[in-house]
Amino acid sequence: MHFKTIFNRVTEYKPFVVDHVHLVEHDSGPVMEVTMRARGNGQPECSDCGNRCPGYDSMPTPRRFDFIPMWMIPVVLIYTMRRVQCATCGVKVERVPWATGKNQLTTEYQWFLAGWARRMSWKDVAVSFRVSWDHVYNSVKHAVSGQRTQPENSVRVQRYVASLPEGDCEEGAAGDSYSGPLSRDAEDEQSD
Ligand SMILES: [Zn+2]
Repeated sequence: MHFKTIFNRVTEYKPFVVDHVHLVEHDSGPVMEVTMRARGNGQPECSDCGNRCPGYDSMPTPRRFDFIPMWMIPVVLIYTMRRVQCATCGVKVERVPWATGKNQLTTEYQWFLAGWARRMSWKDVAVSFRVSWDHVYNSVKHAVSGQRTQPENSVRVQRYVASLPEGDCEEGAAGDSYSGPLSRDAEDEQSD
């Protein structure tokens, strides 16, 4: 079975498709690099309003988005964002189904980390998956707001998160744990 087949099985990124996959050796170890491309000649969507708009141009360099690691190998999506000429919002970057805003983590990875943050402290999650504490914090924040907005993507990961039993982390013992529907920190942040 090809990596592409497995990847398509766990994601729903239409109208984007995997262009190619390479296992690239970096100094820090191998990285699975998944290069994405837009399929066909459909118009891109404005990231602000979601309307389909004519393309304007492409960003000069591709962006990298961290996906859930596979067999302890980091998985990175690579995509050159286009900009659109939106009649309502002006020139904006396009919307992609795997991430929002300037997030370096894919939505799936955020749900994954938020799920583990229910079982252990945010610091332990950061160390275990070799991500920054901020990434864990932002993932929990995303999960908290996502429970309200129910994003259409990453449904499988959401199910996975929902299936994880909550940990009995002592509050404050190891920093922060996302052991309730809302951690105190995330709740504070939300009300800002
Ligand atoms: Zn727009």
